[in-house]
Amino acid sequence: MLFVGHGNPMNALEENEFVAGWQQQAQSIAQPSAILCVSAHWETRGTQVTTVSYPQTIHDFGGFPRELYGVQYPAPGSPALAAETQSLAVNANILPNENRGLDHGCWSVLKHLYPEANIPVVQLSLNYLMNPAQHYEFAKELSALRRKGVLTIGSGNIVHNLRTLDWGNKQGGFDWAISANNRIKELILSGNHSDLINYSAMGKEINLSIPTPEHYLPLLYILGMKNEDEEISLFNDRLLLGSLSMTSVRIG
Ligand code: ZN
Repeated sequence: MLFVGHGNPMNALEENEFVAGWQQQAQSIAQPSAILCVSAHWETRGTQVTTVSYPQTIHDFGGFPRELYGVQYPAPGSPALAAETQSLAVNANILPNENRGLDHGCWSVLKHLYPEANIPVVQLSLNYLMNPAQHYEFAKELSALRRKGVLTIGSGNIVHNLRTLDWGNKQGGFDWAISANNRIKELILSGNHSDLINYSAMGKEINLSIPTPEHYLPLLYILGMKNEDEEISLFNDRLLLGSLSMTSVRIG
């Protein structure tokens, strides 16, 4: 499983160090039967899952170069995986969404991980009525998918404060952002999931780094689906623009 810091949508078109990091991961992960993607960019009332056979590539952003709007990621969907995901949910009802395609949180990363777009992709929404503990517990219910060769990818960013971005600071992070990112990394590597779930109680630096939950919550999905004895490692572990961390996590 992966939690991927997706950052700027332009990564879909670029060949940079982060893209290279994504490609490296794909090369060392066994070919999955299908992909379940949880992206920061699909929040709904109640959880939804994409059930379309051919999901559209959604260009859910504004003000980017025309070229980015031309990117297509024509991977098939998987109504079978969508149905299985629905059947695993015990405490929550997962509603089918027959129209929704893939947002840039998914395709900007998948385009580099699996450029042939030949692995079926299903996207799961983030239910904005759930708190972090509920997201984490919900993810546990879905972990049986892993035994069937399904690769879960959470796509967001650990530190993600767009209001404080410093466009002159291309290569680094603010002290508070570095400190918050380090704190979260320590908790990930030591397996302290309860503090990660209760991140909002960890003080000012964390709250400034995670001002809204949607880019952080995909991380809780892969942590919730993790087996206790599995290896965990970090990649693309860098901050940029002051308050954006690209730090990504691999489990297994
Ligand atoms: Zn994003």
